[in-house]
Amino acid sequence: MEIRILPLPEEKKKQKFTDESQLSFGRLFTDRMFIAEWKAGQGWVDARIQPYGPFSLDPACLVLHYAQEIFEGLKAYKWEDGSIALFRPEINARRFNHSADRLCMPEVPEELFLQGIEELVRLEQEWIPTSPGTSLYIRPTMIAVEPVLGVKPSDHFYFYVILSPVGAYYAGGFNPVKIMVEDKYVRAVKGGTGEAKTGGNYASSLKAGLEAKKKGFDQVLWLDGLERRYIEEVGAMNMFFAYGNTVVTAPLDGSILNGVTRGSVISLADQLGFTVEERKISIDTIMADIGSGAITEAFGSGTAAVITPVGALCYKETTATIGGGGVGALTQKLYDTLTGIQTGHLPDTFGWVKKL
Ligand SMILES: *Cc1c(COP(=O)(O)O)cnc(C)c1O
Repeated sequence: MEIRILPLPEEKKKQKFTDESQLSFGRLFTDRMFIAEWKAGQGWVDARIQPYGPFSLDPACLVLHYAQEIFEGLKAYKWEDGSIALFRPEINARRFNHSADRLCMPEVPEELFLQGIEELVRLEQEWIPTSPGTSLYIRPTMIAVEPVLGVKPSDHFYFYVILSPVGAYYAGGFNPVKIMVEDKYVRAVKGGTGEAKTGGNYASSLKAGLEAKKKGFDQVLWLDGLERRYIEEVGAMNMFFAYGNTVVTAPLDGSILNGVTRGSVISLADQLGFTVEERKISIDTIMADIGSGAITEAFGSGTAAVITPVGALCYKETTATIGGGGVGALTQKLYDTLTGIQTGHLPDTFGWVKKL
């Protein structure tokens, strides 16, 4: 599909950061954005790259009332030789369309998804930070813009991509987080939208997150929505537990997100000689196995932080410290290997990197 490139007037050019150590997550955006529109009877039309800026949306439009919205998250890295790399973007394209199907939104052809991202990143490459741990975060999004209050799938959508230079997640060191196991609120149930990356899932999780923060925890670990017994995932991370040479994670059974990082961790752990088990595991078992020392490490996986060491879990009134509260050897190895592949410092034996 032809992508029109609209001019970027001098006055729309933003001030670039000068100090990469000041970058945070998702607060600063680049000069341009990609957008394409889908209209019933016409399909995808008018793909363009235009100056970054606000939309003018009708207050009645469907996304603002009934949350017909999906998104993705991936990163671009600038290597030492100046080239630009994406990490498994075609998996994000496929997951985006999986989410679209669940939310009754039109499929974005994989070529359009990738072409939109790649052309935008190429144009905005001066915005990719280069110091260790930094990257350009890419946020593809689709929203329903038909102005009507009836509950129905929209007949008009925007698919757009915005870019945000992000700082090193572990600027203060690769430190373990403390996680509260949520036993009051639920995030998703099988048959719901837990498997889709859709805004509503996150809106409904805010309250639990806030209550956990108040108690001094960094994030929430969700249990299954029916029995509140089996571990599912953390806010925007899949969760892994290591038992010596075996790594356990929740199965993809309809209520958790199929993380790109999760899939990459499974492949890497397997390559490193670990046994990976995708199976249901109850929180009682987890707490007992942390207590006995059978669980040696725990960590989360997600695009933003890549790998997050988990130092403690709190369930009901009990807080259990994992592996002495430090960073385990496997956790460190996975972090080093994944970030090494993403930044071109280690060989990409799986063919995960897509160079622009
Ligand atoms: C995005 C996300 C993840 C992590 O997925 P990645 O593809 O690894 O970034 C995990 N859980 C939820 C709920 C998410 O939204």
